[in-house]
Amino acid sequence: MEKILKKSDLGKWVGKLSAFDCYAPTKENDHWEFNQVTYLDSLPEDYTQVNVPLKKVVLPNREVLFNFEDNRNGGPHIQEVLPEEKEVVVFGVRGCDARGVALLSKIFSESSPDIYFERRKNQLYVVGLSCYPLPGDNCFCLSVGGGPFSTQGMDILLSDIGRKYFVEVLTPKGEKLVELGWEFFAEPNDQDRQDRLRREKKAQEMFNLEIHEAEKKAGVLHHLFEDKIWKTESFRCLKCGICTYLCPTCHCFDIADELASPVPLQGKRVRVWDTCQFPDFTMHSSGHNPRPDKSSRLRQRIMHKFLYFVETYGEIMCTGCGRCVSKCPVGIDIVNILNRVESHEG
Ligand code: SF4
Ligand code: SF4
Repeated sequence: MEKILKKSDLGKWVGKLSAFDCYAPTKENDHWEFNQVTYLDSLPEDYTQVNVPLKKVVLPNREVLFNFEDNRNGGPHIQEVLPEEKEVVVFGVRGCDARGVALLSKIFSESSPDIYFERRKNQLYVVGLSCYPLPGDNCFCLSVGGGPFSTQGMDILLSDIGRKYFVEVLTPKGEKLVELGWEFFAEPNDQDRQDRLRREKKAQEMFNLEIHEAEKKAGVLHHLFEDKIWKTESFRCLKCGICTYLCPTCHCFDIADELASPVPLQGKRVRVWDTCQFPDFTMHSSGHNPRPDKSSRLRQRIMHKFLYFVETYGEIMCTGCGRCVSKCPVGIDIVNILNRVESHEG
């Protein structure tokens, strides 16, 4: 379903969504983050992407799974802590971040259903904002199956066409949001559709970064497990984990028990973000570490996204958001690496 929403009516529509927790990009010093908002009169027109991607809504960086205590008389007692029952609408989501949640769903919903992820995902409404006219300097979503007007993982896509948004309503959840403020939506005309198409084409032409034939990298990487490029490229890695924490599709986690009291035993089990870029991520209790060096860890990060995930799910586990390129403090660049392995240069 396609609709038109005047920009001046955005706030009135959002005002009808008081039953939801609403989030939108808000500026924090020099960057943007999704934060809860009590009203939303406009969406920013000068931002490329938020710092921490949408995955934080469905896979928080710290999540209590259950509380436990040892009742001396009654034995151990476990109380599951499920996510709060609260529907959440996130506005202004870029295509790369919405696709990130769609890719995470392959793991946490389809492959190994995770009740915590699924409950958050089922309660999430994604109102996207197409990337016009601002693909970032390090964006390369077009190379990996996405695009500045991608709709995958969204319930609604808003596209700026001047003084109004072209609204694509993509799912029953999207229809529900529109129905709550139906009086603010109108039917698009041919000019609106042409404006939207023209802007999508223009946005696509503005990209100047790509992974050449990204879909063929799995076949190349298959032969590069022992290649010297991993050692050369990982030499300056600081093991900080930024590239994975800020990636919309990276999802490694650790599970730990936090004790409130040792006697009587009482505490909580928590799930926290972890990363394959930390040396102890794969450390066995025997002391053996199958990925003992930076070289094997960088190889894992790239192979997981462009080979192993492709073999398992048929899709590249990278949405081309460019964060790992922009945010790596020492300039390790996944695009550069993958374009070089094409020619087997080490
Ligand atoms: S690998 Fe890098 S560019 Fe790809 S989705 Fe993750 S952070 Fe973005
Ligand atoms: S962001 Fe850069 S330095 Fe930090 S772990 Fe990733 S590759 Fe290494």
